Amino acid sequence: MNKPKLGISSCLLGEPVRHDGGHKRHAYTVNTLGQFFEFVPFCPEALAGLGIPRPTIRLVKAGSATRAVEVKNQQIDVTERLLATSALIVEQAHGLAGYILKKDSPSCGMARVRIYDAHGVPQRVGQGLFAQTLEKTYPNLPVEEEGRLTDPALRENFLERVYVYQRWLNMTQRGLTIQGLIHFHTQHKFLLLAHDEQAHRQLGQLVASASEPHLLTLGNEYIATLMNTLKKLATRKRHTNVLLHLSGYLRKKLSTDEKTELREVTDKYRCGIVPLVVPLTLLKHHFRQFPTPYIDMQHYIDPYPETLMLRNHL
Ligand code: SF4
Repeated sequence: MNKPKLGISSCLLGEPVRHDGGHKRHAYTVNTLGQFFEFVPFCPEALAGLGIPRPTIRLVKAGSATRAVEVKNQQIDVTERLLATSALIVEQAHGLAGYILKKDSPSCGMARVRIYDAHGVPQRVGQGLFAQTLEKTYPNLPVEEEGRLTDPALRENFLERVYVYQRWLNMTQRGLTIQGLIHFHTQHKFLLLAHDEQAHRQLGQLVASASEPHLLTLGNEYIATLMNTLKKLATRKRHTNVLLHLSGYLRKKLSTDEKTELREVTDKYRCGIVPLVVPLTLLKHHFRQFPTPYIDMQHYIDPYPETLMLRNHL
């Protein structure tokens, strides 16, 4: 797989595009994720011609609508300019596997952005204007804020979704086929089980009902449900179930001692004594010794480059 492309708020890469002429370089994103992804940066406010530096803007309530206005002179409303620019940016965002947005920004903020009422009292219930346009245009695109990437579970969840979505883009670029869809679903079985067993069954039924005339519609429904399901965090309990399920494929191949060791390591993971990478490393070791084609094709085993070290903290 080539490096997946991630859209990103320019200021997070250290570009001096903020209202005060500064930036908000995000070290983890630049230093670590930069090794694995190609960044495609956009600054909606700069691209809208609001200037660098520029007057600070905020979101305000205007009846049932939300407007972006200058803080010092609320008569200056930049909503339409920002929305028009956002529409141009999302046209160029085709083929991205994910997007990292700057939190709290009236343009880029993904959620919980302050919206001010007529008395100047803020409520954290808004979404940046660009973020809104992005979500409307690409509802399946994995999107996350830089602030949440410090949480190991949220970080892992976001990057797992990015790689799943990239695989979907790769497959559909070659043209969606029934065989392709079945194969894709099979490859993601254990990954899905770690998030939601019922959704895995529903998606299985959807795939089983696939027929040529409605394949495109069905594919859209499939990826929408899949990406939505993967947003649910995979819990320790569900991971443990998947580990036990995987161990079942080795039952007849391992010695009694090896089986005991695997069970003990899985139990240590279940109790939070060791991270997920520990039982998985042991499982991978055994599957290398006893190759099992059905397991080799499962993305649960290696959903993203190991060197991202995401499962060392789960
Ligand atoms: S508009 Fe977005 S990219 Fe530009 S400075 Fe603000 S948060 Fe950063």
